[in-house]
Amino acid sequence: MLNKAPTKIYDYIIVGAGSAGCVLANRLSENGKYTVCILEAGPADKTPLASIPAAFGGFMFSKKYNWAYNAKPESSIRNGEPIFVPRGKMLGGSSSTNAMLYIRGQKQDYDHWQSLGNEGWSYNDILPYFKRSESNTRGECHYHGGNGPLHVSDGTVGYPVNKAFIAASAEAGYNITNDFNNDSQEGAGYYQCTIKDGKRCSAAKAYLVPALTRKNITAIVEALTTKIIIEHKIAVGVEYIKRGKSHVIKANREVIISGGAINSPQLLMLSGIGEKHQLQQLGIDCIHHLPGVGKNLQEHVDACVLVKSKKRDGLSTSLRGLLRMLPDTLKYMTKKQGKLANTITEAGAFLKSNEQLDRPDIQLHMAPLLYDDNGRAIKLMMNEGYSCHVCVLRPKSTGTVTLKSANPTISPEIDFNFFSHPADKKILIDGIKVIRKIFAAPSFDEYRGEELHPGIQAQCDEEIFVKSKELLGTVFHPVGTCKMGNDEAAVVNHQLQVHGINHLRVVDASIMPTLISGNTNAPTMAIAEKAADMILSAAHQLSLNNQ
Ligand SMILES: Cc1cc2nc3c(=O)[nH]c(=O)nc-3n(C[C@H](O)[C@H](O)[C@H](O)COP(=O)(O)OP(=O)(O)OC[C@H]3O[C@@H](n4cnc5c(N)ncnc54)[C@H](O)[C@@H]3O)c2cc1C
Repeated sequence: MLNKAPTKIYDYIIVGAGSAGCVLANRLSENGKYTVCILEAGPADKTPLASIPAAFGGFMFSKKYNWAYNAKPESSIRNGEPIFVPRGKMLGGSSSTNAMLYIRGQKQDYDHWQSLGNEGWSYNDILPYFKRSESNTRGECHYHGGNGPLHVSDGTVGYPVNKAFIAASAEAGYNITNDFNNDSQEGAGYYQCTIKDGKRCSAAKAYLVPALTRKNITAIVEALTTKIIIEHKIAVGVEYIKRGKSHVIKANREVIISGGAINSPQLLMLSGIGEKHQLQQLGIDCIHHLPGVGKNLQEHVDACVLVKSKKRDGLSTSLRGLLRMLPDTLKYMTKKQGKLANTITEAGAFLKSNEQLDRPDIQLHMAPLLYDDNGRAIKLMMNEGYSCHVCVLRPKSTGTVTLKSANPTISPEIDFNFFSHPADKKILIDGIKVIRKIFAAPSFDEYRGEELHPGIQAQCDEEIFVKSKELLGTVFHPVGTCKMGNDEAAVVNHQLQVHGINHLRVVDASIMPTLISGNTNAPTMAIAEKAADMILSAAHQLSLNNQ
C-alpha cells in the first residue's frame, strides 16, 4: 500500500549513500540551487566499528551493516563453500567497512577506458578529480590533492613483520616505492589510507555528513529502494520501503543509481531494465531491453600463502594474542594512536608476475596474521602466523549478477565465473611463486615456520592452482555490471546515462568497463566527482536553453 501523504519532489534522487552516492549528494547540493534526496538501505554509520580503523574485520560478522552476500558455489573452489561477498550497508556504504587502502590504479587503466570509446575518461581527464577529492597529509603536488574532503594519510607501522616484508621484497630484487599513486605504481611499500586523526575517513564522513547542514539535502536511512518509476522511458521517481511501508518520491531532474556493483544492476532489473527474456521469466514487465545489465562482472580473484610464525609479534585471536593488544587498545582509547589507528594491511606491492611484462599485473596484500575467508576463519587466526594475498589485477574472466526473484528483498545471484578465461590461472599461480620468493628472503629467517597453505607439497603449477582454489577469495572489488560504453553490452554512455532511458544515470563502481589495477574506493569517488560535474553542467545548459 502506498502512503497517502503528498508525494515529495526533489531535483535529484540518489539511490545508495556509498562511496559514489555521498560524493554526489555533496556536490549536487553544494551550490544551493537544487534539492537532493539520498536514500540508503542501511542505517546511519554510528557504530564504533565504522570509526576504528583496525575494527573493519568486525563487519564480516554483521548482517545489519553488511549485505553479506554469498556467491554461487563452485565445487572446485573452497571445497564447494560459497565465496563470501561483503558489501557495506550504511551511510558511507563499503567505504565505511573497507580496509581504507588509498589506491588509484594505473594510468593505462583509464586510457584503456577512453580507447574503448568513452570520451573524456583518459587518465589525464580523471586525474583532476582524484586530486579534487583528496587531502593528502604529504601535501599537494602534481599527483596529489591537498585540499579535498577525503583525508589520505601515512600510518605508523604497527607490526614488525611488515617491515620484514618490505626488506625481503628488496632482497628478492623488487623495487621499493613510497607512493603507489604517482607516475609508476610498481614496487613494494606501505599503503596510504583514508584515515584522519586515527579515525576512518569514509565517503560519509568526508562528503555526506558535512553537507547535511544544508537545507536542500535530505538523507533517508533504512530505506530500501525497490523500483525506479519510469514513464514513457523517462525516470520520474522511485519507490522505497521504510519500516515495512511503501513510499514514492519524485525527481524533477534525474534519478541516479549508486547502489554498487551488485545492487545497481539488481535495481535496474527490478525496474524492468535488463535482458527481456530473463525479466519476463520472473514476471517483470520489460520497459527497456538492455542485455548488458548485470553482465561483465569483474573482481580481483585472490589466493594466499599462509605461514606459521616463530615470533609472537603479529595479530592472533588467542587469549595471549588478545592480551598483547591491550596496550594498543589503551593507546587508541586515550590518543587515537597505535595498531588500532591503522589498517591491518599496512604493506603490500604491485608487481609483475613475469619479467617480460611492461607493468604490474598482480597486487600483494601482506597481513600480520593467518587471514582466510575474510577474517572469518577464527580458529586459524588463533595461531601465530603471517600471510600474503595475491590478486590478478586485470582479470579477463567475467561473471554475472542476475535476479533470483522479482522480490527486491531477495539477494541476486552472483556468479564470478572465475578462471573462465585461462590467462587468469597462470597469473595467479605465478603470483603465489612471487610471494614464496619474497617469503624465502633472509629478512623472514627469524619468522619463517611451516607453510600452512598452499603447503610445500604444492610445487608444480597444477598443484599450486588446485590448493590455492581451496582458500580462494576476492579483494572485495566487484565492478563492471552496468558498464560504460557504446557496444551492445554497455548499460550507460560516457555521460553515465542509462541507454534508452532519459533522466536516469548509474554512478558507482558498476560503470567501470574494465577493472582498474588496484583497490576501487578512490576510483569510485573520482568517478562520482566527474559525474557530479557532468550532471551540473547538463543542468546549467538546460537553464541556458530555457532562458
Ligand atoms: C570489506 C571491504 C574491504 C574493501 N577494502 C578496500 C580498500 O582497502 N581500499 C579500496 O580502495 N577499496 C576497498 N574496497 C572496495 C571499495 O570500498 C568499493 O569499491 C567502493 O566502496 C564501491 O563504492 P560504490 O559507491 O560503488 O558502492 P558502495 O560503497 O557499496 O555503496 C552502495 C550503497 O548503496 C546502498 N544500497 C544498495 N542498494 C540499495 C537500494 N536498493 N536502496 C537503497 N540503498 C541501497 C548500499 O547499502 C550502500 O550503502 C573494499 C570493500 C569491502 C566491502
